Amino acid sequence: MKEKTIKESVSCSGIGLHTGRQIHLTLRPAGKGKGIVFVRTDLGGTAIPADAAHVVPSSLSTILKSGDATVQTVEHLMSAISALEIDNLVIELDGPELPALDGSAFPFIALLQKAGWLEQKKERAFIEILKPMTISENGKSVTIQPASSFEVKCQISFDHPVISDQVYHYWHSRQAFIGELASARTFGFLKDAAALQSKGLALGVSLDNAIVIDDDKVMNEGGLRYPDEFVRHKVLDLIGDFSLLGAPILGRIEAVCSGHKLHGEMIQAIMKNKKAWRIVTASCSEKSVPVFQSSLQNLSVTV
Ligand SMILES: [Zn+2]
Repeated sequence: MKEKTIKESVSCSGIGLHTGRQIHLTLRPAGKGKGIVFVRTDLGGTAIPADAAHVVPSSLSTILKSGDATVQTVEHLMSAISALEIDNLVIELDGPELPALDGSAFPFIALLQKAGWLEQKKERAFIEILKPMTISENGKSVTIQPASSFEVKCQISFDHPVISDQVYHYWHSRQAFIGELASARTFGFLKDAAALQSKGLALGVSLDNAIVIDDDKVMNEGGLRYPDEFVRHKVLDLIGDFSLLGAPILGRIEAVCSGHKLHGEMIQAIMKNKKAWRIVTASCSEKSVPVFQSSLQNLSVTV
């Protein structure tokens, strides 16, 4: 199991969900061990590493910050990168937010598939969770505990007839992500739009890049892509947020009504609690059963 980058550069453009700005994005290959790095080309090439140390915990989208440079709404692209098991990438953009595209991760999956990928000469490192950790706030919580693979159980509860209570249990594989989660779109309530826009948020939201819900129904003409698209999107968001740990996770995450802010706080807490995890690499036996070997002496997580 080796690290991967993309084979060739690919680009796309679109409107930022919150800023409403037109943004051009280019994904470029990066060398082994370099990780995922955003580069603001409009700020003289300022680099913003996609890791826990650069997360600014915030409610409506995930924001990374380095010096005065920020990049927001990184979660859908990060989720796609993580799901396709790409380790090293330069992400150039000419503004402060990722393009929303259709509000899901699917266009990013398509872009990455178009780029293709290359194996690199470095063993892929994983974060193996050794001890359970929980973080909670106002009835919302996230727990992470040891497991032999990566899985997520997510529960949401909205006092609205279209969403109500939904639960989704996801076991990670590339195909599962593409089939079950990638197309699930972000969502919002029409009644909140004016208040958010008065604060300079959700300026780019439309029926083309989000599910919009009025008092009793989904307003998008085609309806939902999955009956439980809302909770699936929350799992997608969570995977993007936790990918900022800097390596794939061997652990089980259980999220109850959580969001980007709690996820940001959780990954920073995990990074600080170095007894709760260790870095391992995977090598495959002749029967292709993954065997995880500790190699703490050679590897570290970028924080
Ligand atoms: Zn989202």
